[in-house]
Amino acid sequence: MKPTIALVGRPNVGKSTLFNRLTRSRDALVADQPGLTRDRHYGHGRVGSKPYLVVDTGGFEPVVDEGILFEMAKQTLQAVDEADAIVFLVDGRNGVTPQDKIIANRLRQSGRPVFLAVNKAEGMNRAIAAAEFYELGLGDPLAISAAHGDGVRDLVELVLEPFPDEVAEEKVKHPKFAVIGRPNVGKSTLVNAILGEERVIAFDHPGTTRDSIYIDFEREGHPYTIIDTAGVRRRAKVDEAIEKFSVVKTMQAIEDANVAVLVLDAQQDIADQDATIAGFALEAGRALVVAVNKWDNLDQEQKDKVKRDIARKLGFLEFAKFHQISALQGRGVADLFKSIDEAYEAAMAKLATPKLTRVLEMAVERQAPPRNGLMRPKLRYAHQGGMNPPIIVIHGNSLSAIPDSYTRYLEHTFRKAFKLQGTPLRVQYKTSE
Ligand code: GDP
Ligand code: GDP
Repeated sequence: MKPTIALVGRPNVGKSTLFNRLTRSRDALVADQPGLTRDRHYGHGRVGSKPYLVVDTGGFEPVVDEGILFEMAKQTLQAVDEADAIVFLVDGRNGVTPQDKIIANRLRQSGRPVFLAVNKAEGMNRAIAAAEFYELGLGDPLAISAAHGDGVRDLVELVLEPFPDEVAEEKVKHPKFAVIGRPNVGKSTLVNAILGEERVIAFDHPGTTRDSIYIDFEREGHPYTIIDTAGVRRRAKVDEAIEKFSVVKTMQAIEDANVAVLVLDAQQDIADQDATIAGFALEAGRALVVAVNKWDNLDQEQKDKVKRDIARKLGFLEFAKFHQISALQGRGVADLFKSIDEAYEAAMAKLATPKLTRVLEMAVERQAPPRNGLMRPKLRYAHQGGMNPPIIVIHGNSLSAIPDSYTRYLEHTFRKAFKLQGTPLRVQYKTSE
């Protein structure tokens, strides 16, 4: 499981600059999807063989409230709570401020490992820049420059030191799907509807972190693992308390699954949060099935409105299958499984080089990539570079200027040729010159 690093600090110290630096490489992998909603507070990154999640607690503002001098914004507290490590950023050009001291105290109480980073230290003597911040009592301050990159790699390596290298892809040979969605859309009801009918083999196997529950079961003789982000079993104990939505938990469940099942509530408007969660699945490259839940008691007008809403807000999920279901009545669940199976097969498909190359040649013949000045990109051959999501690597010359629209045309062509319904697909280029 990827460790989560939270960036904390008062406004203007450079959190979002550092966030961008820590997540840039990964973002570049995802061709821009029109309409994709990104949440710029959560991102993926990696140093060497260590991947991580980063949370920018950007919205953090000090609150002065009736004698309570200071209270950290709720979101920041949740992020601190969920993180495996905290990077506390201060401004090396400003010196220690009273706010820094208050934040430092609060972080010390969190019980999480805290790393103190003194930012904007470019051009300064690092030791001197850092020295003043010892008084915060958080150990050795590390001087960095988020804007220029100085010291950033050392910082991240230090933060990640206790965490293991990425384990070789766990070989789960069956669909392992995460049921995701915002609170109250019907996730637990769906999980119960599924498990009510099936033979449960094991609850909660090892590797489970935070609050998601892992359940192995069999359906029509086939094994599945469900990752329940709503925590059905727990819910019963905490007497129906409305779950606190956790982005980190959702992202980790998506990462750990090979298929994501996104649950929507047809009796509510499709929300930005739905699109953001869908965006997480897409960025993680996971296969996706959408369950439009609560499809009971809707009149025709409401149904039409939901469909229009979905087309408008979730248009970037054109690769995914949508199912209208009622978890409460158990309707539509069987069909959902057909799509889960299909999406899983597509995500894990083996794409043979000769066929990939043949499809590529046909695609280019039908529509050649646009000229870039005097150069015409030359697409020579393709091979598979990975699965879940399938990655197709195209080799050739002058490939750097291929526009996104042409990449999407190729994606579409490969998707059709290999019947890759239900999974995102990535096309990458390798120029040999
Ligand atoms: P946030 O409010 O903590 O997210 O801070 P931002 O990332 O928005 O940065 C606030 C300001 O500090 C911006 O003008 C940045 O360009 C600047 N800044 C960020 N990092 C550095 C740095 O390493 N050196 C310098 N000189 N400026 C920086
Ligand atoms: P979660 O927070 O996403 O796990 O949502 P729950 O499963 O707890 O459901 C939230 C509410 O929606 C509960 O009152 C459920 O009874 C209700 N609900 C769930 N599925 C359906 C459905 O298919 N139809 C209707 N009408 N209500 C549903």
